[in-house]
Amino acid sequence: GTGLYGERPWLARYREDYPTDITPEFDSMLALFEASLARAPQTEIVKYFDGSITLARLDELSDAFAVALTERGFAKGDRLATYLQNIPQALIAVIGTWKAGGIVVSINPMSRERELTTLLGDCGATAILAQDDLWEIAKSVVPDTVVRIAWTTSPLEYQTRHDERLFTGVQAFTPEGTEDLATVLEAAAGKEPDPVELGPDDVAFLGYTSGTTGPPKGAMNTHRNVVFNAQTYRDWIKLDESDTVLGVAPLFHITGVVGHIAIALLLPAPLVLAYRFDPGVMLDAIREHRPTFSIGSITVFIALMNIDGVQREDLGSFRRIYSGGAPIPPSTVKAFSDQFGIYIHNFYGLTETNSPSHGVPFEGDAPVDEASGALSVGVPIFSTTVAIVRDDGTPADVGEVGEIVTRGPQVVPGYWNKPEETQNALRAPDGSVALFTGDVGYMDDKGWFYVVDRKKDQINAGGYKVWPREVEDVLYEHPAVREAAVVGVPDEYRGETVKAFVSVRPGQDVTPDELIAFCKERMSAYKYPRQVELLDEIPKTVTGKLLRRELRGR
Ligand code: AMP
Repeated sequence: GTGLYGERPWLARYREDYPTDITPEFDSMLALFEASLARAPQTEIVKYFDGSITLARLDELSDAFAVALTERGFAKGDRLATYLQNIPQALIAVIGTWKAGGIVVSINPMSRERELTTLLGDCGATAILAQDDLWEIAKSVVPDTVVRIAWTTSPLEYQTRHDERLFTGVQAFTPEGTEDLATVLEAAAGKEPDPVELGPDDVAFLGYTSGTTGPPKGAMNTHRNVVFNAQTYRDWIKLDESDTVLGVAPLFHITGVVGHIAIALLLPAPLVLAYRFDPGVMLDAIREHRPTFSIGSITVFIALMNIDGVQREDLGSFRRIYSGGAPIPPSTVKAFSDQFGIYIHNFYGLTETNSPSHGVPFEGDAPVDEASGALSVGVPIFSTTVAIVRDDGTPADVGEVGEIVTRGPQVVPGYWNKPEETQNALRAPDGSVALFTGDVGYMDDKGWFYVVDRKKDQINAGGYKVWPREVEDVLYEHPAVREAAVVGVPDEYRGETVKAFVSVRPGQDVTPDELIAFCKERMSAYKYPRQVELLDEIPKTVTGKLLRRELRGR
């Protein structure tokens, strides 16, 4: 070895004949978009219920969106927040923002007031596009100075018939204090946005993540990161313009941004949007549009297997399915394959790696580790090198467990306005970009990687990440709570779910159900504890550090 990031033995290669490197083909996502538009303008780029929108039409609408933003003072490097479900308007906003030189910050539609306040404050968004029902939540916390555009049920100019199902799940209302998207686009229709210079190092997207340490941080996904991983999806999974992508991962998450939006734009090929995570909505979209590819998390696959009346033929159009964002047990892969005849390929990565850093090549089934029962996450993707590092910073041997450290063109250069966190998680000792993932795993003698544990306290509820401190902070706001400790506990459906241990102040009285309801009101639906257990004392070390591991095992 030649030091921590020396060439061997941690430089893993799957097979001698497998292409290991690719070069980004475009300087920015905008250049990628323009190239696809020139090649295949009539591609039905988004399909939504029984409507669709072509690439040419998306170009016009995103031009108008960019012009409208610029007219409202939005400039290069400014942040636009989106607060939307998986709806076509998200693509108009994303591409329109890039055309205006801006950065997209997509906020989880499950976020509540306090979460929105934190994110908007951190990224300093100067504009927001919110879906009407969500604007009801946003309006109390979005500053007056922010440009507010809302999407109401007034029809957008789709090049398709209007079917009321296009708007299923969205209540009609007139958003107070906002401009209506349809009107905004109409007023700017036909105008060309001023050309902007976007390069590989410009930030395309801030992906908020709790990362390895507490508070949410915006991982700065650059245009290079996104272009590179769009190509990775295409070349690793072997996708082309004859494919149809099913969009079931949330578009606010990096998996949705890259594995749905960027890949569809690159091919270009249709992206079928499922409005939200709902098995019925998903099955309807699959039956109607016959997708060939999708990436989702374990909850999607378990939900699909359990839909009433689902037939093997329903999923017959799929050629490739990938799973990412959370561990998937070999038993689920097998059950899915038995039921539908499709093998689920594992993909592994973080928001900080712009979606995948490791993947199972499409030709091969992943091995399973006998000791831990973990399914391999695959091998490092193109142009990526991975180290397994011991606690003392020295490289682990083959087969030895340590922290996974990743470098490659997909690793983000830093967190937005967080130099210290950037230094801790995203820099090698020599100052170069390398991600300390907080995931614990090892590489076998053939170069397959396995994730077996986490160094970080993060809870993974079916792909949704929960930081215990955030939940504990809310619990501490309850007058009866003396101490609180939150951990992840095993859950059949989500892999893991949130559990809180609470000790009560003397003389106070509170039930677990009351505490659950208290949290539910104050945070995203995936975050609040599903279980609360009252304890006399929360176990801690002599130095007062919570013994989360001990609690997890209770
Ligand atoms: P996020 O930033 O939301 O993408 O979350 C990244 C985290 O999800 C990783 O650090 C892992 O802990 C977990 N993760 C993602 N993909 C996988 C996978 N295929 N197997 C196991 N864990 C995964």
